[in-house]
Amino acid sequence: MRAELVMVGTELLLGEVLDTNSQWLASKLAEIGVHLYFKSTVGDNPDRLALVLTQALERSDAVIISGGLGPTDDDVTRRVVASVVNRPLVYSEEAERHVRQYFQHTERPMPERVLRQAWLPEGTTPIPNPRGTALGIWLETEGKLLVALPGVPSELKAMAEEYVLPRLVGREGARITHSRVLHFCGIGESSLEELVDDLIREQSNPTIAPYASLGEARLRLTAHAGSISEAQAKIEPLEREIRRRAGHLLYGADGCTLEQAVGDLLVAQDATLATVESCTGGLLAHRLTNVPGSSRYMLQGWVTYSNESKMTEVGVPRELIDRHGAVSAEVAEAMALGACRCAGSTYALSTTGIAGPGGGTDKKPVGLVYIALAGPDKSVEVVKCNFPGNRLDFKTRATTAALNLLRLRLLQK
Ligand code: AMP
Ligand code: MG
Repeated sequence: MRAELVMVGTELLLGEVLDTNSQWLASKLAEIGVHLYFKSTVGDNPDRLALVLTQALERSDAVIISGGLGPTDDDVTRRVVASVVNRPLVYSEEAERHVRQYFQHTERPMPERVLRQAWLPEGTTPIPNPRGTALGIWLETEGKLLVALPGVPSELKAMAEEYVLPRLVGREGARITHSRVLHFCGIGESSLEELVDDLIREQSNPTIAPYASLGEARLRLTAHAGSISEAQAKIEPLEREIRRRAGHLLYGADGCTLEQAVGDLLVAQDATLATVESCTGGLLAHRLTNVPGSSRYMLQGWVTYSNESKMTEVGVPRELIDRHGAVSAEVAEAMALGACRCAGSTYALSTTGIAGPGGGTDKKPVGLVYIALAGPDKSVEVVKCNFPGNRLDFKTRATTAALNLLRLRLLQK
């Protein structure tokens, strides 16, 4: 089945609202093996919507529309759909009941105009909306399927999950697409691709796709099969081979994050952690505490942005800062050791660097960061990194490098 998405809303074209619906729908369609060929965005304009829909119905088997189903004048989807498929709008008693029940349930007075939503193209099977008044449209015409859902993301998702996607699976003959994502840290996208080059060349089902984001890399393994378990069985030997080659570069699969992987290791080793951050401004502690259950190992986090606070909070000696500067291996080391001592933790991580865009020098350019890891017996390890990008990218990369430093240390134990 060739499917296509049409997103309706002038706010999307103006950049006021980010089109998250098409991304969500695209990922759900991929999961159930429906091939998405096109996606378009069009404003709340009847002529242009009619143009897009006519073209979509010519080239695709299923067209899924988001938006423009509300009761206001700018909501044109119902009448444009009716005109494109050459059918009249007919009043649906079922839709009226739904709208009235919704208002009764929410105990609000019903503006008369919301009943406009009960006018649906003839032949429509209304799609129930558990979260709002606008019913969706399921319309089969000349071998084509046309579906329209409200633009409000929570309504669209609920209706697609409960009604639309299960029916599309049935039409597809239950051929599903299943993916597994493997996460790597400490290796770039190109080197990762090199590591599995031969596997990529041989690929057909499953397929292997590398991609990268700020300091991390991923491989998506995708299999087509008759069932999820059959797809998993296709992916499993390939995953085993990749794991064998990657060793410690691989930290997890699917929804696992680097901070989660670090947390699991800390729990397994009954170890605790503190952080003391300068240039990352608390992002490291934020990421660590995003993990449920992080209170089992995360004891304390400082943001010591000024020189003074590095001294008063975690006892960095003034002469160290005077001699080497706040952005130095020596200060990173003293911060980590100080945090370990003050928090009484097994490990402590510190960051100090130059996030930019200003403040760089020849010797200490923007993007420079020192990361230190203090551990048992006052052992301490420092790494120096240089990251490209803007402030936020820099902070993400620096915290990723810090988390990976700790992860590799914990794996050595
Ligand atoms: P509508 O169903 O067209 O009345 O849309 C209702 C609201 O949903 C809009 O005002 C937007 O805030 C939001 N919305 C519409 N389309 C999208 C989309 N493609 N992605 C995310 N939000 C959307
Ligand atoms: Mg709209």
